[in-house]
Amino acid sequence: MSKPNSAPNEIVDLVIIGAGPVGTSLAVLAVQRGFSTILVDARDPSAVPATDTRTFAIVRGSWRLLGATGVHPLLEGVTEPLNGLEAVDGGTHAFGAPGIIFGNDDLPADDDGQPLGQMVPSADLQVALDKVTGQITGTEGGLTWLKNTRFEALEDGAAATTVVLSDGSRIRTRLVAACDGVNSSVRSALGINTDDHDYGKSVFAANVKLERPHGGIARQLFMPEGPFATLPMPDNRANLAWYMKRGAAETLAQMPVEDIEAELNARFEHFAGPMKIDGPVISYPLKMRLAQKIIGPRVVLLGDAAHRINPLAGQGLNLGFKDLAALIDIMVEAREVGLDHGAAAATERYQQARRFDMTTVALFMDAIDRAFSNDNAILKPLRGLAMTAANKIGPLRRAMARQASADQAHLPSLMR
Ligand SMILES: Cc1cc2nc3c(=O)[nH]c(=O)nc-3n(C[C@H](O)[C@H](O)[C@H](O)COP(=O)(O)OP(=O)(O)OC[C@H]3O[C@@H](n4cnc5c(N)ncnc54)[C@H](O)[C@@H]3O)c2cc1C
Repeated sequence: MSKPNSAPNEIVDLVIIGAGPVGTSLAVLAVQRGFSTILVDARDPSAVPATDTRTFAIVRGSWRLLGATGVHPLLEGVTEPLNGLEAVDGGTHAFGAPGIIFGNDDLPADDDGQPLGQMVPSADLQVALDKVTGQITGTEGGLTWLKNTRFEALEDGAAATTVVLSDGSRIRTRLVAACDGVNSSVRSALGINTDDHDYGKSVFAANVKLERPHGGIARQLFMPEGPFATLPMPDNRANLAWYMKRGAAETLAQMPVEDIEAELNARFEHFAGPMKIDGPVISYPLKMRLAQKIIGPRVVLLGDAAHRINPLAGQGLNLGFKDLAALIDIMVEAREVGLDHGAAAATERYQQARRFDMTTVALFMDAIDRAFSNDNAILKPLRGLAMTAANKIGPLRRAMARQASADQAHLPSLMR
């Protein structure tokens, strides 16, 4: 692909920085809707990808959006239906509180019979999205994809902004979508600060083979030091996330597999049944990072560039999908009425549409973590009551199910 060192007057509709799950999905959906698009990513396609044991809980609304990109057939055989969520308070049984559980029956029927969500391994999702993105790259497909190329700088202009890349190319565009992850260089170039919180904890993550059938239920046991979660995967395996004090998860991840299994089973066999490690193990520090603004002149931030949240309920990437679905609606609506989709009116609409939701979800996850990850004598009975109420009150349970699965009428069109 030749460098898009555009003719001085040529203006591209959209430049996307970052080809993670959010950037690639946005690229495919924008090109489908006729926006001239350039996707830029720093990844070196010849490099061996880093070990990634993450498995995403892609909720119903996000799964619909992914369907529009064309990846569903490419994910056959690697996904597992997510039929329900269960949360058990391991720190209190004062009220005999049952685990909160809601599932497919708490959601309105879906035309395609979709469950609450789908569990999708992160590495498989990226490979599938790279493939559909590759299929639309080139003169016929309409997308220009610059790999192994870094975003360097932005230069403001009235009718367009100029993006400067590491290969020396300069692209004029109406709109820049920053999808360049938690350490976003675009966000830094705009001088946007972040609110950061380090939980002082790390997550131990691995896949395990279970003996007890998981039935497609994601289960979380809230312990004073943090949750222990098993997320269903094919072949009765589970992706597990175990929150621990910083240092402990890192130490555990370095231990021989037999020792890890012994520790796991000693602590959690009563909750999950016997477990056997299946594949590599990793640990990662738990941090929250929220951008103080999610727009700049002709720039919008999406996905982890805008918000890195506590992965407690698997909402991080789902928030990113909501960002891009909202952006697509705004771009299309602006074009329909003859407006510039990168002008301040459009970017401000984007900020209005997304800022509240992303902040609320981030803070809600944070609040749950704080409320449950302790042995506080006052909080213990209160959370027992809250869990009982959530479990017993049908409308509340159904509202939670619809919120968690992004299955609500007010959501952007790609998620409905
Ligand atoms: C362990 C773990 C478990 C998680 N589990 C879940 C879950 O179950 N459900 C869920 O919804 N979310 C989950 N998340 C969150 C989820 O991983 C992120 O929200 C998601 O990966 C963010 O996607 P993204 O496309 O915004 O960014 P990224 O995936 O980080 O992609 C950023 C891209 O930008 C590129 N890039 C970076 N800098 C530049 C530059 N200067 N120039 C050009 N390109 C650049 C990178 O090469 C990369 O391709 C989890 C996160 C973690 C850490």
